[in-house]
Amino acid sequence: TIVYLNGQKVDYENAKIPVEDRGFLFGDGLYEVIHAYDGRFFYMDRHLARLQDGAKEIYLNLDFGIDNLEKICRQAVDECGFADTSVYIQVTRGAAERQHVFPENIPCTWVVIARESKGNPEEFYETGITCITVPDERWNRCNIKTVQLLANCIAKEKAKRAGSYEAIFHRGGTVNEGASSNVFIVKGGKLFTHPADNRILNGITRGIVLEIADANNIPYSEEVFNINQLLDADEVFLTGTTTEIMPVVKVDGKIIGDGIPGKITRMLQEKYNNLKQTVNR
Ligand code: PMP
Repeated sequence: TIVYLNGQKVDYENAKIPVEDRGFLFGDGLYEVIHAYDGRFFYMDRHLARLQDGAKEIYLNLDFGIDNLEKICRQAVDECGFADTSVYIQVTRGAAERQHVFPENIPCTWVVIARESKGNPEEFYETGITCITVPDERWNRCNIKTVQLLANCIAKEKAKRAGSYEAIFHRGGTVNEGASSNVFIVKGGKLFTHPADNRILNGITRGIVLEIADANNIPYSEEVFNINQLLDADEVFLTGTTTEIMPVVKVDGKIIGDGIPGKITRMLQEKYNNLKQTVNR
């Protein structure tokens, strides 16, 4: 595991954050998870753009420079030397005496942690996974990738205790997204996923799936659907940087479609895997 803290390479054991860091006190920070396959970054440009968008949303000045961050991500992956690497970036509003209002002239705290990406078990992709639905108890700005993930953590823990892989958030029956993924359904050959508004994180993988759909003449619509439509779908799958394209074969105990990964899901997985072998940006 390679760690860069505020631009400096440090040993894992010596990578220490001040006790009054606002990430620790308030969850006042942003993060990204980026993958590199065989040393090739998979749409790092989009992840860094989203980080910058998020920074604007929360009035966070990325004082270290995005080019510097990019350089360090590349360096960390090179130094790791693993086939597949997962890069975690976190930026907070820095450390200062505890008060809610933003401190002035305090540098960001920023870390880059690169480690081997072991990926999910192959069987998950081949046979599909199960999900539960849970009420979405998060705030109204889920488009921002903040480190305030308690509601997501609780949801994920509930899924685990139910023997499921993922928890799917809904508000009043309207399906939003997973605790750490976006949700798609297929009905009558058409893809549906929640519009990229304040209720979901606009996933990079979600966007890639829509691009694949476009290129392969698979119709899609970014429109809301409810739990009944989810349970009644022909196919369901999750998307995410770590999740990739994950077929869902059971939700709340109800079998989806034929109970096996669907044809369109399979096709998207195949196209996605091709991109993993070529994209480098
Ligand atoms: N929604 C949430 C809540 C997530 O945590 C994630 C994964 N970070 C996603 C969606 C998927 O986003 P991406 O495809 O950019 O990894």
